[in-house]
Amino acid sequence: MYDVAIIGTGPAGISAALTLKALKKNIILFGNIALSEKIRRAEKINNYPGLNAISGEDFAHNISVQLKSLNIEITNKQVTGIYNMDSHYGILCNTEVFEAQTVILASGVEPIKAIDGELEFLGRGVSYCATCDGSLYKGKTIAVICTSSEYENEVQYLSELADKVYLFPLYKDVSISLNNIEIINGIPKQIVGNFRVSGLIHSKGELDVDGIFMLKSAISPSALIQGIEMNDGHVVVNRNCATNLSGVFAAGDCTGRPYQYAKAVGEGNVAAHSAVKYLFSKKG
Ligand code: FAD
Repeated sequence: MYDVAIIGTGPAGISAALTLKALKKNIILFGNIALSEKIRRAEKINNYPGLNAISGEDFAHNISVQLKSLNIEITNKQVTGIYNMDSHYGILCNTEVFEAQTVILASGVEPIKAIDGELEFLGRGVSYCATCDGSLYKGKTIAVICTSSEYENEVQYLSELADKVYLFPLYKDVSISLNNIEIINGIPKQIVGNFRVSGLIHSKGELDVDGIFMLKSAISPSALIQGIEMNDGHVVVNRNCATNLSGVFAAGDCTGRPYQYAKAVGEGNVAAHSAVKYLFSKKG
C-alpha cells in the first residue's frame, strides 16, 4: 500500500512528488514519462523565478534529470478510476489496481471539455479505456473520439473488435487507415440514448452507435472519482488543497485559474504537506 498516489506528471504532480519524497513518504506517481505536453509545448518561460527564458523542452529535461537523481519513478499509466475503499483508495489503471492511503489529483485540464451526455452515459456505453471495455463491443458499431495521434494504437485495437468504427480525430495528421474505420470530420456535440448510448450527434449529422470511446489525456476528475465537488469544470479545494473527499487533495490547473506553472508548483507542495498531515492524523 502506498502512502500517496499522485495523478499527473505536470508541474503540480512533480512538485508534490518532490516534497513527499523529501518527507520520506512511499509514493506512486502516475502519468506520462514525457511529463506534460503543456511543459514541452511552451516556447519560452519568462515568469518562473530563477529560470530565465527557458524553453519548455529544457524545463522538461531538467525535471526528468531531477526525478532520476532522486529515484522518483513515473508509472507510465493512465488512471481510469479512483475508488473509495473506506480506509484507503483503489486506483484503477485499465485492468490493474493500485492502493494508496491518500490521493493527490494533479491531472491538469483537458482543453476539450466533456460533451453533452458524456458523464451521464459513462459506464453505460461511454468508456475512456479501450483495453478495459473494448471486448464489450465485439461485432458492434462504435464511435471513437480521439484527441491525439498517440492513441491511434488504441483505435486500431478497437477496430479489430468492432464491426464498424466512426473515428473523430480532433488532431491533425491522422495516420490510421483501416477498412472498417470511417473518419468523420465533424465535431462531436451530444451523446444520446435512453438507459444506454444509442447515438452521437455531431456538427454534420447523427450516427447510430452502440458505444463511444473518448481517448484523451485528461479525464474530468468527476468521472474519475465519484462524489468529488466540482465548480465550472474545476475541483473545489480549500487553502490546504483539500477536496470535499477525506484523503483526496488536488493541485494545479485542475483546481482552477490562473493556469500557470508557479501556481501549479505551489499547490502541489501544499497538497503534499496536507497529505502528510492527513496520514499523521490517521495514525493517531
Ligand atoms: P499539466 O501540466 O496539464 O499536467 C497534467 C498531467 O497529468 C499530464 O501529464 C497528463 O498527461 C496527466 N494526466 C491527466 N489525467 C491523467 C490520468 N487520468 N492518469 C494519469 N495521468 C494523467 N504557464 C506559465 O506559468 N508560463 C508559461 O510560459 C506558460 N506557457 C505555456 C505554453 C503553452 C503552449 C501551454 C499549453 C501552457 C503554458 N503555461 C504556462 C501553462 C502551464 O503549462 C500550466 O499551467 C501547467 O502545466 C499546469 O500544470 P499541471 O501540473 O496542473 O497540469
